[in-house]
Amino acid sequence: MALTGLDIFKLLPRTNCGECGVPTCMAFAMKLAAKSADLAACPYASEAAKQKIGAASKPPIRLVTIGPPGGEVALGNETVLFRHEKTFVHPTAFAVAFSDAEPLREACHRIAEVREYCLERVGEQLRLDLVLADNVSEAVEPFVETVRALAGGSGRPVILRSENPDALAAGLAMLEGQRPLIHAATPENAREVATLALAHKAPLVARAPTLDALAELTKRLAGMGVQDLVLDLPAENPAAVLQHNTVIRKMALKGGCEPLGYPIINFVSGCDLPGLVADASTLLLKYASILVMDTLQYQALLPLMMLRQNIYTDPQKPIQVEPKVYAIGEPGPASPVLVTTNFSLTYFLVTGEIENSGVSAHLGVVECEGMSVLTAWAAGKFSGAKVAAFLKASGLEQQVRTRRLIIPGYVAQISGELEEGLPGWEVVVGPQEASDLGPFLKRFAA
Ligand code: SF4
Repeated sequence: MALTGLDIFKLLPRTNCGECGVPTCMAFAMKLAAKSADLAACPYASEAAKQKIGAASKPPIRLVTIGPPGGEVALGNETVLFRHEKTFVHPTAFAVAFSDAEPLREACHRIAEVREYCLERVGEQLRLDLVLADNVSEAVEPFVETVRALAGGSGRPVILRSENPDALAAGLAMLEGQRPLIHAATPENAREVATLALAHKAPLVARAPTLDALAELTKRLAGMGVQDLVLDLPAENPAAVLQHNTVIRKMALKGGCEPLGYPIINFVSGCDLPGLVADASTLLLKYASILVMDTLQYQALLPLMMLRQNIYTDPQKPIQVEPKVYAIGEPGPASPVLVTTNFSLTYFLVTGEIENSGVSAHLGVVECEGMSVLTAWAAGKFSGAKVAAFLKASGLEQQVRTRRLIIPGYVAQISGELEEGLPGWEVVVGPQEASDLGPFLKRFAA
């Protein structure tokens, strides 16, 4: 049961020494209740307090890692149903499935594609996370060969999927120390597969036909000592999967149902690419921790990668770039000077448009706590005075001959204050949209 700030306060020393980084024990208690602080920051908390607060602040969705230390994929630790309530913690891991019935010569090419896949967007590299070896053949030898090829060629942690315990044992022996995810323990084979998971210190998928059976199974597995579990509740269609995921996550977060407090694995497949992307997007939003796909097609991965990046960006911490003057192209003393905010998306959009225009320029990026132009202006972070101070401190005035400064069209209203703060400069109001920057710059340079 979650403790309130007041409950936690009563367990703290109440000396207000401030060593935890906040001035009072009450303020620290409120931060603990909001799960935005760690009790370890208070050096004077008693053992009893640590036990009580620790148990109450345990995330309702267990943190599970797959893969070896240093190369692991982390899942779970979620505390909210909706991103805007706080943030989602660990992004959905994308896994690509490989059947051991597929000739290895053909699979090798796709395995290399998994390793090489990289989409760069707003300064981040977006990649595939996991590979799944699927024991379609039901035989041990081809499964082991596929596992070997995946482990050696993909550079990604592996999921071992088989209904044959001998095949699972052989795959686990090959990946000793690699912490592959085992798929799956069922009500029928729970003891045998749990023994394998414990022997190899590997996380385990629990798979059962109904919600009740799944909760019973995870209780049983936890009782045997397997703590790192992932849930698999099969369904006939994507709508039912969505319903299952929502019920599981709601029961874990709002109902305090510990047997369902684990990450979820979902599977999407099919030849209908738009349908597959729609299903995968739905499950990415609600609440797949692992999404296994059988495609590597660019048209499917691109929207899913972008959606995942958008959803799993912490809304409280916008992606920012370093505030400074950036040289776009090879600008000289006569090249145009522009300013914008340090919101990463704005920076990359503006940079892209300047590069595409072919006009080299100096781009001043002002510290605005990662806010977009209009938001920063409304918050007083992108005022005329602040931009003028930034430009003076940057030393750009000594590097350029030009005395014309291009500002975003959305903040035309700061031009008067800016000219007052920058004597000798003329402020030019640029376009509102980054997409109009190219033609504007070409005319400006001409
Ligand atoms: Fe209170 Fe501990 Fe913080 Fe000191 S370090 S103010 S005792 S919570």
